[in-house]
Amino acid sequence: TTTTTVKQHSESRRRDLEEMVHKSFSSTDNKPHLNMVVIGHVDAGKSTTMGHLLFKLGQVDKRTMDKYEHEANRMGKSSFHFAWVLDEHDEERERGVTMDVCVRYFETPHRSITILDAPGHRDFIPNMISGTTQADVAILLINASEFEAGFSTEGQTREHALLAKSLGIMQLIIAINKMDMIDFSEERYNYIVETLKHFLSTAKFSESSLRFIPISGYTGENLVDKKEPKMSWFKGQTLIQYIDSFSVGERLINKPFRMNVNDIYKSTSKGLISVGGKIEAGLVGTGDRILIAPGNEMCVIKQVRRNHMESEWGVGGDNVDLTLQIENTTAIRVGSILCDPEKPIPMCKKFQAQIVTFVLATPIICGSQVVFHAHSMEEPATITKLLSILDQGGQVSKKNPRCISDTTTALVEIQLQRLSCLELYSSFRQLGRFTLREAGKTVAAGIITEFLEHKNNSK
Ligand code: GDP
Repeated sequence: TTTTTVKQHSESRRRDLEEMVHKSFSSTDNKPHLNMVVIGHVDAGKSTTMGHLLFKLGQVDKRTMDKYEHEANRMGKSSFHFAWVLDEHDEERERGVTMDVCVRYFETPHRSITILDAPGHRDFIPNMISGTTQADVAILLINASEFEAGFSTEGQTREHALLAKSLGIMQLIIAINKMDMIDFSEERYNYIVETLKHFLSTAKFSESSLRFIPISGYTGENLVDKKEPKMSWFKGQTLIQYIDSFSVGERLINKPFRMNVNDIYKSTSKGLISVGGKIEAGLVGTGDRILIAPGNEMCVIKQVRRNHMESEWGVGGDNVDLTLQIENTTAIRVGSILCDPEKPIPMCKKFQAQIVTFVLATPIICGSQVVFHAHSMEEPATITKLLSILDQGGQVSKKNPRCISDTTTALVEIQLQRLSCLELYSSFRQLGRFTLREAGKTVAAGIITEFLEHKNNSK
């Protein structure tokens, strides 16, 4: 460590950047950007619906779509071609081919949207956690023809909805999919909506932030237009109209810079590396000097791509790709936090947290071993103390409990194996939330309320 302070940018550069941001946000063609995650039980139709939506919006050309359809027919999987729009893309990523970003990005009249974690993976939950921690809004897809299976205790519908809530997603579109399979029945739709409304209100979603909508991802009904006479009973808007009316959060421009590295692309040349992720807070520009946490390594921002376009700056809420100049490229990985070197993210090993448990195989006790997931990092952890159980109103209903069972809110102490980059929920919401998993299942979600062992050394 060094005693001289490295500044992210000079004060005059800061003023210039702020002016650029202000100018851009006051122009009418600058659409607020939202990260959207699509969640729901396996086979609910997540890939099909998003693939079809992107096709309808013109993000996938007709020839490519015809090719998928032809191949799908040949393989006897004729209904799968829309899902392939997203799957093909994942294969490309694995092979390290440059991404065709269009596939994950689209615009509505008033919003620009990035789809996080294009689904299609069977083992969806871990992906869903890292996607959901970055998401601003979500679409929950429900299979209308097998609603009960997805909504049962083994199904993923409840778990996904609870996770989304615990991870800070306030706005949710609940799309009742596969309406074609139930003959577009209004009665069945209403039954599903009422059941879900009840469940979501017990999960503390406010009813005004929920939008219910019947669709068919396969026929395309009600994605961007309405054609089906059998569904003329539905008087609400289309999926794309609802997406267009999501409200946009604060940009936290005056907080210290924090960006969660979610993707690392191949380095373009020696000493340069491209990373993708979401800026949680702050303002950065080209030429800025940034600290990579954990660690002590600095880098310089060479290039910013903001919402898939070249830019000189990026601010809280933006999805960006940054090209960084860095001496030691191994200092950065998925899960690193880029931050202001004068006000870096704290490193913490032990903290107090408020958790909400899910359906548990065995109750949580003092000494329970779990895997801790926050932003895009994971770390083995131990529950070292059970402090209290809280009632619905957040008041202590039992001190020093011996165990914590299903769907309970509790205050606990958690110890991580190693020092990790974390924030208090009260200072940076998204960096102060986490989930706990055990044997491949999510056991709890929570927020960090107090650091017990941490350090905070600036560069
Ligand atoms: P995911 O696991 O949620 O991504 O689901 P997929 O998109 O892979 O879809 C699962 C299966 O349901 C596939 O066979 C799809 O063709 C089918 N499917 C998806 N949406 C619809 C729909 O609206 N109607 C009908 N009939 N089938 C659908």
